[in-house]
Amino acid sequence: MDFELTNRQKQIRLAAREFAEGEFPGIAREYDRREEFPMELWKKACELGFVGLYIKKEYGGLGLGFLEQAMVMEEFWRVDPGCGNILLTVFGSELIQLYATEEQKFKYLPPLPKGKAIMGTAITEPDAGSDITSILTVAKKDGNEYVINGTKQFITNGSIANYLIVFCLTDPKADSRLKRFGMIIVETDRAGFGASKLIGKLGIRASDTAEIRFSDVRVPRENLLGREEGQGFYQTMQLFNINRIIAASQGVGVAQGALDKAIQYVKKRKQFGQPIGSFQAIQFKIAEMATWIEAARALYYKAGWMIDHNKEDAKLISMAKWLAGEVGVKVANEALQLHGGYGYFADYDIERFYRDAKIVEIYEGTKEIEKNTIAREILGRL
Ligand SMILES: Cc1cc2nc3c(=O)[nH]c(=O)nc-3n(C[C@H](O)[C@H](O)[C@H](O)COP(=O)(O)OP(=O)(O)OC[C@H]3O[C@@H](n4cnc5c(N)ncnc54)[C@H](O)[C@@H]3O)c2cc1C
Repeated sequence: MDFELTNRQKQIRLAAREFAEGEFPGIAREYDRREEFPMELWKKACELGFVGLYIKKEYGGLGLGFLEQAMVMEEFWRVDPGCGNILLTVFGSELIQLYATEEQKFKYLPPLPKGKAIMGTAITEPDAGSDITSILTVAKKDGNEYVINGTKQFITNGSIANYLIVFCLTDPKADSRLKRFGMIIVETDRAGFGASKLIGKLGIRASDTAEIRFSDVRVPRENLLGREEGQGFYQTMQLFNINRIIAASQGVGVAQGALDKAIQYVKKRKQFGQPIGSFQAIQFKIAEMATWIEAARALYYKAGWMIDHNKEDAKLISMAKWLAGEVGVKVANEALQLHGGYGYFADYDIERFYRDAKIVEIYEGTKEIEKNTIAREILGRL
């Protein structure tokens, strides 16, 4: 067993930290307030190779692993979660790399790490969240085309993406319920496509979220991911497996950033004539927070390493995502508490971290769904 990161991994982590510490603090509060995606920041991150670094070299990426991408995400979220989500502009490229035809890979992957295109994945609908098999968006075959109708809800990058992978019913009458779905790549400049940016999010407000409408959107049949019918459900489950590691790294990053702020604050703030950090009750909180973070990081490192070494374990992935989400929320809460009344105001960034942390317990599968997966893997289907 070897717990050492490779030199390459250490360099990537350090480079990501330096980039985030240099670029995010000056703009984070403003982009959060304006609820705006930081386009220039995203371009810079692409130029430096941080975005989609798991995309293979032949398709324009660096050919690194998902664990390395997660490490970069952790460093970005440590400095600012909203800005950190510039890394999600490749959300869905994992599926293209895994399942698309060579032609689709060469068309849709290279623009992403170069900062020439943004993509997203549209699964959730107004009445279909945790139960993705209850979606209503239909892609009906018509000659050489699909005609798509339906609405997708809460789609990351929805109003800024150049293309989306859309989870549709392609064969609603298939005998096997799980074979009714397809993932279709839809360019957002097609007639009948509409996106409305959603504002008023609690956190990660620099990350774009939109409602998407498809009204008779016509897409060539060749845009079906992998050109194989009936695979959409299985492809989506695979996307969750990979992205839950990325989400776990977000939980660890927001927790680490909140702890960093708390440590600084308790050393400086004086009450009863001494730094509040000298009180044992506060030292215990710091010790607990640091321990939770270590545990959550170790779990996502292991689950991520296993994905990159073809030993993927859905139970471990769900454990990593659930624990990291909980640790993010708990640590951000405690860190704000240590700031007292000052923590309640936007002048101290801990207020933003407190708001940002919650999303990790909701997207990429809620914490309840993660626990369902863990329990099912342990108990089997009862
Ligand atoms: C900021 C943001 C960005 C997002 N980005 C995307 C995106 O890019 N693409 C995309 O497709 N979706 C995206 N989502 C959607 C997200 O994945 C869903 O919100 C999430 O899966 C939960 O679905 P829901 O909101 O419909 O809640 P519901 O599924 O209605 O759940 C409501 C509550 O019931 C619980 N619950 C549901 N079923 C069970 C069960 N069987 N057992 C126990 N508890 C249960 C849930 O855990 C939750 O607490 C995003 C959401 C947000 C907020």
